[in-house]
Amino acid sequence: MSITSTMNRLAWGLACLSVIVGVAPASAGRLIQQFTTGRVTAGTPVPCNDANGFVHWDRRDLAFFHNTANQGAGKAAALTAALNSWTNVSDASHVLSYAGTTTAGFVTDNRNTLVWALDGGCPPPNCLALTALVLDSNQVIVESDVVFNNGVTWTTNGSNFDTEAVAAHEIGHALGLHHTEVTTTPRPTMFATYFGTDERSLEADDQNALRCSETRYPIRPVVLTNAASFATGAVAPDSIASAFGTNLATATASSGSSPLPTSLGGTYVRVIDSAGTGRRAGLFFISPSQVNLLVPAASTLGACRLVIVSGAGDVSSAPCAIAAVAPGVFTANASGGGLAAAQILRVNGGGGQTVENVADASGNPIPINFGPPGDSLFLILYGTGVKGRSSLGAVSVNVGGTLASPLFAGPQGTFAGEDQINAGPLSRGLAGAGTVNVQLTVDGINANTVTLVFQ
Ligand SMILES: [Zn+2]
Repeated sequence: MSITSTMNRLAWGLACLSVIVGVAPASAGRLIQQFTTGRVTAGTPVPCNDANGFVHWDRRDLAFFHNTANQGAGKAAALTAALNSWTNVSDASHVLSYAGTTTAGFVTDNRNTLVWALDGGCPPPNCLALTALVLDSNQVIVESDVVFNNGVTWTTNGSNFDTEAVAAHEIGHALGLHHTEVTTTPRPTMFATYFGTDERSLEADDQNALRCSETRYPIRPVVLTNAASFATGAVAPDSIASAFGTNLATATASSGSSPLPTSLGGTYVRVIDSAGTGRRAGLFFISPSQVNLLVPAASTLGACRLVIVSGAGDVSSAPCAIAAVAPGVFTANASGGGLAAAQILRVNGGGGQTVENVADASGNPIPINFGPPGDSLFLILYGTGVKGRSSLGAVSVNVGGTLASPLFAGPQGTFAGEDQINAGPLSRGLAGAGTVNVQLTVDGINANTVTLVFQ
């Protein structure tokens, strides 16, 4: 027998009675351990406290679509009841919903689908139904599909085979639960073989498996900010963002390579956009409490969801928003406030150009001196979330109450995600002004207020 069929039989195929009972795992495994990424239908049963962990979702709200082809017709109520059984587990937070019908099959397509098909990886006569998990790195489930074998008869009245009973079992697999070895009565739903309508109701053994999974892998909160301003709110495509949380990484590491890696020290970040497409973000820096990332340039604007998975499989997730522009200006002390991380381009009367810093290596200001009357000074700001501006005319730079004409606002060109804004010439009326505020506005959205010092 092939490895695949062995695994299906022992693992997730809800197979025929006579074959399975004698080989039910003797360990106290309740969860599925599987380090392979992509679409899998097998895994190793492990206990909840296994040091190497087990598969788990990157969210708690899971929508399941229903393909009514073949014997799928008339099964919505049974499927809904099975989903509700798992939602209703007390002291657990998964919310499973019936999302309506689909024509999608038992395929990887970013949606969870319940489908009736012949074979589909669940060959008659020994397989009743089969659950596939789609895994990202570090044992994170991103999709699950269930195929009910259309080669047997499916009912909703309790006669063989009862749709709700088998759906409850398979959805347990979709949540990352393996089979139980408990054989007492009432028998747990996650027992490996079919036993009729008693299988519809979850037992303590089933519920405890879900609870322990959620305890081992809580969905941790995370806050996404503009990496220059540290402002919360929307971020822009191809901008640099900083995320703050806990257990974001198992180590501290930086990337100096280009293109940026999409996994660093085992940590990876997915940004799921409003079109439902999840993309890995490029990573600049990881630590347990902070991750600096490049928002995927191809992200569709609108609501998004940020998911950060640590090397240990810890999941942090939060809603986010992606807007065309979300300007932030980098500052000398990298706090989001105070002196701008800026430069001055000086053009003298003869046309010669020099670039001058406005801060020293310690972040202390170097006051800007206008110099001889023939010199013209231009301000160079560095930021992120700017390049998506509608037009250069939609960019304004207010320096100490005077507007400096924008000359350029776009990619800095060397550093991923970084933007540059050139404006000037600066009004010589600023001479002697001391510390003044600088306000960048892009498409009506203010960046963080920063400062410059004039002598
Ligand atoms: Zn099973």
